[in-house]
Amino acid sequence: MVRTIFLPKAVKLILGVLTDGGHEAYAVGGCVRDSLRGAEPKDWDICSPAPPETAAALILAASSPETVKILPIGLKHGGVTVLMDGEAYEITTFRSDGPYSDHRRPDYVEWTDSLESDLSRRDFTVNTMAYNERRGLVDPFGGLNDLKDGLIRAVGSPSERFREDALRILRAMRFAAVLGFSIEAATEAAMGGRKALLAEISAERIGAELRGLLSAPSPSRVLDRHLDVVTVPIPEFAAYVRDPAAKALALACLESCPSDLVSRLAALFVFLGAEAAGRALRRLRFPTHDAGRVETLARDASEPLAVRMGGAADAAHVKRLLSRMGPERLRSALALKKAMATALGEDATPVEAASALLDAILEAGQCYSLASLAVDGNDLMSLGIPAGPEIGATLRMLLERVMDGDLPNERGALLGWAMGNRATT
Ligand code: ATP
Ligand code: MG
Repeated sequence: MVRTIFLPKAVKLILGVLTDGGHEAYAVGGCVRDSLRGAEPKDWDICSPAPPETAAALILAASSPETVKILPIGLKHGGVTVLMDGEAYEITTFRSDGPYSDHRRPDYVEWTDSLESDLSRRDFTVNTMAYNERRGLVDPFGGLNDLKDGLIRAVGSPSERFREDALRILRAMRFAAVLGFSIEAATEAAMGGRKALLAEISAERIGAELRGLLSAPSPSRVLDRHLDVVTVPIPEFAAYVRDPAAKALALACLESCPSDLVSRLAALFVFLGAEAAGRALRRLRFPTHDAGRVETLARDASEPLAVRMGGAADAAHVKRLLSRMGPERLRSALALKKAMATALGEDATPVEAASALLDAILEAGQCYSLASLAVDGNDLMSLGIPAGPEIGATLRMLLERVMDGDLPNERGALLGWAMGNRATT
């Protein structure tokens, strides 16, 4: 594994300015980890013993105000955010954490001049490496070895570190899933021992880690091993802990459903019922819109969506679904339905047939909505149908006939039928 890291221009500049000002400065954490494993870092965090105000002043003095902005975000936590070339760089001041009495955050932090002491408060060895061009890689906790071995290992006593901040339990799972790593044995053992403390952690922080976990390429391996942990914030999953067959079903569905977050969440809940999804996600303070989409998808996928052979009755069925859900919603529902069939060991061909019909209907521009009907309310009024509920009722009747294939979607035919079959109100 390489030990030399390519630093972006802005990071070099910030490190250089701080160093010239007489302060050590390093790239640290996730960016070092990701660079060493040959992945593109999401963002670059910098640490330095320079107090935030000093760091901000040095950077402002060394650059033109058009190219650099200092945001006060993080100032009260001992940090400052530098906006350069449209990217944000967070500079945090070296610190060591005081005791944790609430299992969430330290009672106080102390500024320190020691990089090692700042690194020792961090969560996992692979996240405790720092780098600058002068000292090269600083790796006091064996992070590079664990990175090579694919291991998530707590820094220090895992049980103590999880007692301090129980969110780290979910972070271990997230990193294991995202990086495709294993969790080192003692760290893993401590997760189970401390999981009850997750009840003390805010819904927002838990939700953010769960979202990260579910955005991993393949989250089911880690979930399979540690679903008992997730059961603390999502008691609905206790059903899976009790019933290994139900758990295997949900995880198989998760494996084969589309990889977007809404589909993955719906896959985890679809066999428990759509309401369970809405309830759990709102409790975890997921944005209402997302919780609603997951609930809707789980409900849609529980409906009979499949078709037999793709005949006229089947096309009418798919058009009715389309008129109710719209193309995107139906497409997602069919994809999840297919994953459910695969997980259940059922034949997925009827679901695939419905998807093929959906594509064919859209491709041919066939009518499945009032908007695409060849007549509108004005046309009906010009036939003498009075404005009011009769118009809507007649349009819906026409749409039904068109979707069933009983009438062509043509103005003349539709108006002729409407003349002879006015909806009575
Ligand atoms: P990602 O690429 O997913 O952002 P990251 O390593 O940058 O990964 P962050 O959550 O952004 O993770 O945190 C930045 C760094 O801060 C971590 O690498 C770790 O060193 C430290 N850290 C974050 N949260 C905790 C925590 N709860 N306990 C201890 N250290 C933490
Ligand atoms: Mg980060």
